[in-house]
Amino acid sequence: MARVLITGAAGFLGSHLCDRFIKDGHEVIGMDNLITGDLKNIEHLFGLEAFSFAHHDVSKYVHVPGHLDYILHFASPASPIDYLKMPIQTLKVGSLGTHNLLGLAKAKSARLLVASTSEVYGDPLVHPQNESYWGNVNPVGPRGVYDEAKRFQEAITMAYHTYHGLETRIVRIFNTYGPRMRLNDGRALPAFMSQALRGEDITVFGDGSQTRSFCYVADLVEGITRLLFSDYVEPVNVGNPSEISIKDFAEEVVKLTGSNSQITFHPLPKDDPKQRKPDIARAKDILDWEPKMNRSEGLKITLDYFKSLPEFQTQTTSA
Ligand code: UDP
Repeated sequence: MARVLITGAAGFLGSHLCDRFIKDGHEVIGMDNLITGDLKNIEHLFGLEAFSFAHHDVSKYVHVPGHLDYILHFASPASPIDYLKMPIQTLKVGSLGTHNLLGLAKAKSARLLVASTSEVYGDPLVHPQNESYWGNVNPVGPRGVYDEAKRFQEAITMAYHTYHGLETRIVRIFNTYGPRMRLNDGRALPAFMSQALRGEDITVFGDGSQTRSFCYVADLVEGITRLLFSDYVEPVNVGNPSEISIKDFAEEVVKLTGSNSQITFHPLPKDDPKQRKPDIARAKDILDWEPKMNRSEGLKITLDYFKSLPEFQTQTTSA
């Protein structure tokens, strides 16, 4: 049984990772400052002996009593709307937060896995994106605060590995979906599902020809777990290569919900990547990993989750 620190524990990905490591018999310390995370995502773990929670901002010095075997750094605002609202926190958690966790990992002789992102490829000029591609990022655009923090995170993580011999892992995460996504984070999937459930217009940005490739959260967690326990130090893409245009994706969601919502078109946000699809050859080769969940099944599970939220419960009044 290992002792694992997971930052961003109350977030979408962090909470699923907490579940996975608890299920696998490890002791988990969840850490979160709750600026975008929600304790509801992990409340079922409170009371378990193997789980504890620390309310802390990892951009400040991080203290964890006792030994640690693994650290997974998943704390960060992670949607374009969040970066616009919290640009400085986004920069700090990816840079200062990562530095603090590298120092902690070094002090504890723990292995650190950092959550990087397909955003390091920016608006990519190579398609699909493989790990050797250096990217096309606008450092001063609205996404720059996230993209550059994550690029710095990769650089400092690699520097600690080469200079201090620290055991490090870097996962580049592509668009991921599933239960516990935040309803109002402005991302395409929660936006489309909540609009369809309310019978509102579906807001497709641009002409909807931009593409994304959506990975179900359980597949992502499996890939991350395999990477953590591998001995591979270079970045690894983990995502689902099944690519779809945002307009077709919106139509899939409307059809699935059976809603009468109409698709409407709105201005494309600045620097919105035109296409995105992971090349997962490296993950297949090194981790023997590939996604298993098909999108129609994954979307059904996610829709059931959104429908179960209080926001979508129909009011019943007793006579
Ligand atoms: N998008 C959209 N309508 C929305 C929210 C997002 O058309 O209400 C588009 C967005 O412009 C982007 C794609 O959907 O092209 C995916 O957006 P998301 O925020 O989910 O992720 P990211 O752009 O970071 O991949």
